[in-house]
Amino acid sequence: MSVAKPPLASGRLTLKQALLTLLIAIVISLIAGSIELLGHASSMRENVQQRTSQQLAIVNGAAAEAAFQLNPDLAHQIAFGLFSNSEISQVAIRDDFGRALAEFYPTQPNASNWLSKQLFGDIVYHEMPLRYYMGSDTPEATVGEISLSLDTVYLTREFLARGYAVVGRSILEAFLLSGLVIALFHIFITRPLLKVHAAITQTDPTRPGQWPKPTLKGHHDDELGHLVESLDHLLNEFQAGLAQRDHLHQLSQYDGLTGVANRRHFDMFLAQQWQWATRAKQPLSAIFIDIDNFKEFNDHYGHSMGDDTLRAVATVLNQCIDSSCDLLARYGGEEFICVLPGKDANEAMNIANCLRQAILSLAIPHAYSSTHSHLTASMGIATTTHEQPLSPDDLLNKADQQLYHAKRRGRNRIEIHERPA
Ligand code: GH3
Ligand code: MG
Ligand code: MG
Repeated sequence: MSVAKPPLASGRLTLKQALLTLLIAIVISLIAGSIELLGHASSMRENVQQRTSQQLAIVNGAAAEAAFQLNPDLAHQIAFGLFSNSEISQVAIRDDFGRALAEFYPTQPNASNWLSKQLFGDIVYHEMPLRYYMGSDTPEATVGEISLSLDTVYLTREFLARGYAVVGRSILEAFLLSGLVIALFHIFITRPLLKVHAAITQTDPTRPGQWPKPTLKGHHDDELGHLVESLDHLLNEFQAGLAQRDHLHQLSQYDGLTGVANRRHFDMFLAQQWQWATRAKQPLSAIFIDIDNFKEFNDHYGHSMGDDTLRAVATVLNQCIDSSCDLLARYGGEEFICVLPGKDANEAMNIANCLRQAILSLAIPHAYSSTHSHLTASMGIATTTHEQPLSPDDLLNKADQQLYHAKRRGRNRIEIHERPA
């Protein structure tokens, strides 16, 4: 019985592996991108702070001059210079009384969001006192202060622009790496596995030892190569097991000398066919066949010749029956029996005539027979029908009785169990 083979789902393994690889690559690239972004945020903060301090230091002298002279034009010019930097949103220069000499504010309020607060919220405001040097004999005096606020929205935009580039590059790298891994994995793992799978699906379950063993180039020493070798070993062992099973089946069902069904097979066959005939209201006939004077044959021609003769008899008897539905069995010693399902007494008689003639046609000399010059056989027939049923035992007994009559009446004869009308 052949089991339905599942269809070969080609590409599924590659697809699953591709999705998994891509997923892993994207997760890794996102983690790597995030780490890079964190580093970038920290270095950006440092740079901005450094730049701002430098700018304040550069303008400090001029702004101090403006504050000392209370010169709003100069202060204005300096503050405007700082304000024109996009990173700065607010600048103020004050004198030492805190009065604004110059002040620049954004026209619209700075709409900082959560991210800009997180990134730059703590470094927004910067201020520096304005120190003025009045001469070598006078200490440096504080004449005012300069303060500025950073434009966190602008800085965040800058940060995000860089962030998008980093994330985009990471994802592109992930795709490229995945493509490479997928291709290599497919070539080295998936394709050989699919080859093994295809070979298994092509294997005939009744002849597993003849499976189309695949050759996996470059995999002789690895797990895939070992898998194929293990499968090969397993399938060959399986084949040997099947052969042993067939042999045991043969031994348990067939007679070793003649090759026809043995007694055990006959018993099962008769029981099954009797059931069938009874259910289907069909006749079933049995013919007992016993070689005449076989003891003398054996005694004079030898046991080996007797064995050869039994084999030859079995072969010709088999030619008279329809082996697709009838059964010839060796009942024991030099006795054979035919079971003929669906055949009535007339048909059984025709077959018995064929059997008797077949033995005669062998023309085996039997010089020591008390009745004939050549090998002959006697036969007894019995039939069970729907109208006059017989149990399996009765059927055999009646056929045996008829065989006995055939012997009594001179051998080389066929006797049939006659039914009362
Ligand atoms: P009858 O005509 O009454 O049947 O006489 P017979 O000699 O055939 O019957 P009997 O039962 O007295 O002897 C059967 C002989 O069959 C006995 C034995 O020598 C022989 N025989 C039984 N089995 C085998 C076998 O396997 N091989 C051989 N060579 N001879 C066998
Ligand atoms: Mg006998
Ligand atoms: Mg006999």
